[in-house]
Amino acid sequence: MDALEPFIDARTMELHHDKHHLAYVDKLNAAVKDHPELQKGSVEDLLANLNAVPENIRTAVKNQGGGHANHSFWWPRLGKSSTKEPKGRLAADISKRFGSFAAFQDQFTVAATGLFGSGWIWLNQAKDGQLLIESTPNQDSPMLTGRVPVMGIDLWEHAYYLKYQNRRAEYVTAFYNVVNWGYVSEQYRAVNASST
Ligand code: MN
Repeated sequence: MDALEPFIDARTMELHHDKHHLAYVDKLNAAVKDHPELQKGSVEDLLANLNAVPENIRTAVKNQGGGHANHSFWWPRLGKSSTKEPKGRLAADISKRFGSFAAFQDQFTVAATGLFGSGWIWLNQAKDGQLLIESTPNQDSPMLTGRVPVMGIDLWEHAYYLKYQNRRAEYVTAFYNVVNWGYVSEQYRAVNASST
């Protein structure tokens, strides 16, 4: 829980992982309780094919399943990595798309500090391979629109309020110290391994 101190405090991580994330998991399970066919695949499968989910539980699956998927995506991409910047293919693609890593980070910061309400800012990859900085409201998953998330930041107040209160910009700045770019870059390489 204290692995990200002092940038993200242990108490916030404890509540975030053990209470907030758990609540999404519990409520998703409750939503699909009477639908054994929906329990077979992954939560990502459910989100990618949301229209196949019965209408009476579709919103619950979108919200609670999105919450589960987003947080499951996020945790392994946090850590005090020795790598402070992307590596390899991701580094090259970010430079190509945004001009430089610093320019990318500036744009990401503007998006993260400017997001209104609860949601996420993502570095996503579109189906054509293009990298995009995008927002999703609430717990909407980037997968709902066919994006492949590369990296993201949780901008719900539960992610930072205990330590940073209204000072969201400080949280965003601190967040850059705990992006596990080594892992993010490796996952990006793996996802794109089959394309040139
Ligand atoms: Mn969260």
